[in-house]
Amino acid sequence: MNANFPRAIVHFDGDAFFASVEQMMNYKLRGKPVITGGERGAATSLSYEAKKRGIHRGMRMSEIRIRCPEAVIVTSDYRSYGIYAHRMYSIVRTYTEKIEEYSIDECFADITGLDEKMGMPYEEIVMKIKDELEDSLGITFGVGLAPNKTLAKIASKANKPAGFTVIPLEKIKDFLEPLSIHSVWGLGGASGQHLAKLGADTAYLFAQKPDIWLTEHHFGKAYRDVWLELNGHFIKKLTLESLGPTDSIMSTRTFTPPSVSRSYIFSQLSKNVERACEKARNHNQKARGISFFLKTQEFTYHAVSIELTVPTADPTQVMGFIDKRFDEVYAEGVLYRASGVTLRGLISNESHMLDLFGEIQELASKGRSFQVVDTVNKKYGRQTMFLGSSLQALTTKKLSKGVKSSPIQKKTMILPCLGTVY
Ligand SMILES: [Mg+2]
Repeated sequence: MNANFPRAIVHFDGDAFFASVEQMMNYKLRGKPVITGGERGAATSLSYEAKKRGIHRGMRMSEIRIRCPEAVIVTSDYRSYGIYAHRMYSIVRTYTEKIEEYSIDECFADITGLDEKMGMPYEEIVMKIKDELEDSLGITFGVGLAPNKTLAKIASKANKPAGFTVIPLEKIKDFLEPLSIHSVWGLGGASGQHLAKLGADTAYLFAQKPDIWLTEHHFGKAYRDVWLELNGHFIKKLTLESLGPTDSIMSTRTFTPPSVSRSYIFSQLSKNVERACEKARNHNQKARGISFFLKTQEFTYHAVSIELTVPTADPTQVMGFIDKRFDEVYAEGVLYRASGVTLRGLISNESHMLDLFGEIQELASKGRSFQVVDTVNKKYGRQTMFLGSSLQALTTKKLSKGVKSSPIQKKTMILPCLGTVY
């Protein structure tokens, strides 16, 4: 056993996580001051470019716009952040089952014993996991290795961004001496102030207090647990149950005015499918199920769910399935006001399925063609390339905006649709 790590606990903390995910999803945001939280009027996460300009979390958007007119303020996209979080957990989980999904951008892992199993020191194992996380997510992580959760959290914060800090038992003092009591996990608020008033204004001074001092001052279990961990003991267990993946993507559209036209409604649905599939592909995911619905002018819903034998994020495939079942939700003469699709049971492209019918091969080759679509659309703007079945939705939209000339303004490329083109 490693004398410095009776338990080896790692804390992974995504740097500027939400803003970094936004930058990963949209290359145009890279290198720019990006701020999330547009919907609530205050910054929830900021890129390092924004931090450098003196913007901080919680700052009002109105103030941010004055201080940093070039700031890119975006609406939080928690679904996407959740997908990235789940990928982070999955990568760490390939090393150990003992992982706590602590928050959307943080997790703890217990890698005790892995050094002997892998024939590598803990430091190297952690660096390997960190590299893998950063390579596959495109986001940097602050990482800490220590004998318990409290110290691992201190370590991951010690060297931001992208730092890796190790606190072995014999070095605890060096880290705790300069550390304000308020920086200790769980002691940020009134509890830290209380300790500071009693003379324990650094983590080290608190750790040095004798057991009896805690009793005399009526400190309960929560304080005692932190105190024990600051002294190197492993007290706070990891909560191992998974929060579950963010495993669906939905896209809906309300059309104005409502319509009875089968071809128009089908085309609207096709647009939903294209959008949802594009998002799934951005996250490197495929769906194992599809649901689609139509909503009537009377607000009644008609829906169909389809389970897929082979996962896909290919809109022509999805529209092919929907085409076969469309008349189960559509009735002639009924006025419809909205349509929507949900891609369910999303799995990452890395997951392997049994290739029973050679279908995977076929879908894989289609998958490559949609990489081309995504690249073109990213470069030249959305909807430069789209499905034939979406055409009516697009042209109608542009015409309704009062565009008089050619219904499609941009040079576009229309892709063949597996289903019937109406
Ligand atoms: Mg973070």
